[in-house]
Amino acid sequence: MSGAPPGPRAGDRGRRIAANLTAVRARIAAACAAAGRPSQAVTLIAVTKHFPASDVALLAAAGVTDVGENRDQEAAAKARASAGLDLTWHFVGQIQTNKCRSIVSYATVVHSVDRLKLVHALDREARRADRKVRCLVQVDLAGGADPGRGGAHAADVPALADAVAGCGALELGGVMAVAPPRADPAAAFASLAELAGRIRADHPAAAMISAGMSADLEAAIAAGSTHIRVGSALLGDRRPVVG
Ligand SMILES: *Cc1c(COP(=O)(O)O)cnc(C)c1O
Repeated sequence: MSGAPPGPRAGDRGRRIAANLTAVRARIAAACAAAGRPSQAVTLIAVTKHFPASDVALLAAAGVTDVGENRDQEAAAKARASAGLDLTWHFVGQIQTNKCRSIVSYATVVHSVDRLKLVHALDREARRADRKVRCLVQVDLAGGADPGRGGAHAADVPALADAVAGCGALELGGVMAVAPPRADPAAAFASLAELAGRIRADHPAAAMISAGMSADLEAAIAAGSTHIRVGSALLGDRRPVVG
């Protein structure tokens, strides 16, 4: 395994991360048991934004296989520094079309596809790189009340899903959402699951539901989430930067 130990306290950091991972896996197992779902039905994506590549290496050493990032510049550097760890990189943040070339160079899954222009830009760059990129359509569950988060209006999601499915270098994976602040997460995730079911009726392979973070992963798993995106419960508090 590559990745030099980052310093004398790496042992402490590694133990802290491994303990956090054990706790998160226990939460996943309990939530799956409560929902009558096998725990293999849920994939954990460790969201490593604002944390160094050395933490990515410690997560990988502890058994994490999937990592997520929300800013291209930071993600690209970390993916380069983590080459050789055999990780699957997920892009979960808002995307400017001029970042698509870079993003498709490391990301296997893009969770934040929310407009047609982005679908075409991703397809163009994925083709150019001879890559196949799995895309999730991000749904705005806040009805426009949380514009910093991105996401398409629910009514526009089926057409975006069709557009992704029609692109040769893209593969429709399913849907993604962030629960709106101060809303009941159970209700938000239930509406996402309902929409996911409608998309799956037309696209049976699009079975991914990316929902649930550190604070609400139980509610997401209860509603059928297949991929949870967990940052702070694994790595600790981030500096308070708008994410
Ligand atoms: C930061 C982030 C997460 C992880 O959030 P935590 O609350 O730290 O678990 C998940 N999804 C997205 C889109 C994020 O930006």
